[in-house]
Amino acid sequence: MDIASPQGRVSTWLAKFADALENGSPDQVAQLFAPTCYWRDLIALTWNIRTMEGRDAIADMVGATRDHARPRNWQIDGDVTEADGTAEAWLTFETEVARGKGHLRLGPDGAITLLTTAQELKGYEEKRGPTREPGVEHGSHPGRKTWSERRADEQARLGREEQPFVVIVGGGQGGIALSARLRRLEVPHVVIEKNDRAGDSWRRRYKSLCLHDPVWYDHLPYIPFPDHWPVFAPKDKLGDWLESYVKVMELPYWARTEARSARYDEKADHWVVEIDRDGEAMTLTPKHLVLATGMSGIPNIPDLPGMDRFKGDIHHSSQHPGPDTYAGKKVVVVGSNNSAHDISAALYEAGSDVTMVQRSSTHISRSETLMDLALGGLYSEEAVANGIDTDTADLIFASIPYAMLPSVQKAVADGQKERDKDFYERLEKAGFKLDFGDDETGLFMKYLRRGSGYYIDVGASELVADGKIKLAHGQVTEITETGLKLDDGTELEADVIVLATGYGSMNGWAAQLISQDVADKVGKVWGLGSDTTKDPGPWEGELRNMWKPTQQEGLWFHGGNLHQSRHYSQFLALQLKAREAGIDTPVYGLQEVHHLS
Ligand SMILES: Cc1cc2nc3c(=O)[nH]c(=O)nc-3n(C[C@H](O)[C@H](O)[C@H](O)COP(=O)(O)OP(=O)(O)OC[C@H]3O[C@@H](n4cnc5c(N)ncnc54)[C@H](O)[C@@H]3O)c2cc1C
Repeated sequence: MDIASPQGRVSTWLAKFADALENGSPDQVAQLFAPTCYWRDLIALTWNIRTMEGRDAIADMVGATRDHARPRNWQIDGDVTEADGTAEAWLTFETEVARGKGHLRLGPDGAITLLTTAQELKGYEEKRGPTREPGVEHGSHPGRKTWSERRADEQARLGREEQPFVVIVGGGQGGIALSARLRRLEVPHVVIEKNDRAGDSWRRRYKSLCLHDPVWYDHLPYIPFPDHWPVFAPKDKLGDWLESYVKVMELPYWARTEARSARYDEKADHWVVEIDRDGEAMTLTPKHLVLATGMSGIPNIPDLPGMDRFKGDIHHSSQHPGPDTYAGKKVVVVGSNNSAHDISAALYEAGSDVTMVQRSSTHISRSETLMDLALGGLYSEEAVANGIDTDTADLIFASIPYAMLPSVQKAVADGQKERDKDFYERLEKAGFKLDFGDDETGLFMKYLRRGSGYYIDVGASELVADGKIKLAHGQVTEITETGLKLDDGTELEADVIVLATGYGSMNGWAAQLISQDVADKVGKVWGLGSDTTKDPGPWEGELRNMWKPTQQEGLWFHGGNLHQSRHYSQFLALQLKAREAGIDTPVYGLQEVHHLS
């Protein structure tokens, strides 16, 4: 092999890396990385989701983990590619307990990024392909039970004769994806969902809602959407898909079941979860509790003076019934993010007179442009044609450390500004206050940092630009009998007021369900510590508390968009399986708490 070729360079590097990991000092390992470098580990060495930034951090992690993890058997998987002097390679490796997959970017001064991920636990592999169940035992077996009898037995025992190892509170797409993975890993668990049916968390949203992300980004684990599935799934269609998925994946899903409270019993070393299962009070005692209760679950309802005297109909966007009964009515929508836009557009189409109140500037990305510039390379028909399947796309995405993302996303935002120049100009001319984030990095960074402050335009912005959805600006100071007042003295008449004022932090769920003490102990959930609006520093390097161990023993948070739920459920499920199997899981770098909410 030509040692100067990309393949040769990666081979040489990998041999040195493997040798240093096994026989050298942690510093020798770190010296194989470029001066600016990142090693992102998804539970392979750290039993944590963690990015080591710089050589010192890498040396520290290696020193702390390698004797236990014993990473070895590093191989290049497939062809090595090269662009602008950086070689890129897929890797396989193993640790003492897991088989892993990695991704390397190697520059002239050493590794720039390394991603290591545990893919399966040795001895606890998911059954698939040749190891699938036969499904039937041929021959004569007196008293044999059918599949449906065995299912019924299992369901009857769960939570009564047999306690689940994991309770997942929340059966939206997050809880469902995690349950599918736990089921395949044979971890006894149950999903608790207060709605009547799986899929209701989508069905109950406003009627015009379609997914904002395209289909290639949205697949669930194991069963992709069929290839005629629409690019943007209508919410009820997605609801039906989730319900079918629960059924065919045989998930232990308890609908009409609400978790009322949970406390960790230190002595017994398990949770005590009080639930109401369709009218019956039950107590579950799992070792692990996963809150998959959603980022958009606790409505942010402002306490405005005069709300009780308003003669019309006032409600939060999460309670918005849809536009049908509001034709011909004056509606004021407070807020200017996703829900505000979607609801305003549907109301306009239904014949309402709509005014949107914008308090602060909002980022707008045109859906089409976003699909092309941000997602196209990994999640699109073109990517599929190029052989990039969902798992590969997810790993490539994961291989870019959060610290590098702003520059990648700034390039996307710059491209958007150029391509959609006229669109943005028309919006601003109509009085809409636009932004691209504190550092001009656009939509995705806002999503990761604060989960708010944007609208993915699927049509409402044209209505704003054309003045069909009217605009007002400022802070609402008071609700009157017939409308509302803004801080500049403007009065707006309204028959209906929709408060599209967003949702509270996810650790609000821990406060609600467990206690304020536990919510404070685990701290803020989501955000990167970027020191931008609503995401205070210090820099964390990963999303706070998501999919990884928290400061509270046995408490986990799961969720995010469909892509994140799909991808990170894999690593959360493996962490839970390891604990169920009694595998030692020493956590490196448990995250510190810097903010309460
Ligand atoms: C208007 C809108 C549009 C969106 N568009 C997109 C999009 O295009 N693509 C995308 O990926 N994401 C989108 N999102 C984000 C969306 O919220 C998430 O992707 C998705 O709903 C998150 O799934 P989840 O399972 O984490 O939470 P949820 O879907 O919110 O599910 C949480 C579940 O927990 C249940 N629950 C809460 N408390 C309890 C309790 N005590 N006991 C039992 N059950 C409980 C709730 O009933 C709910 O079903 C959108 C969100 C909104 C509000």
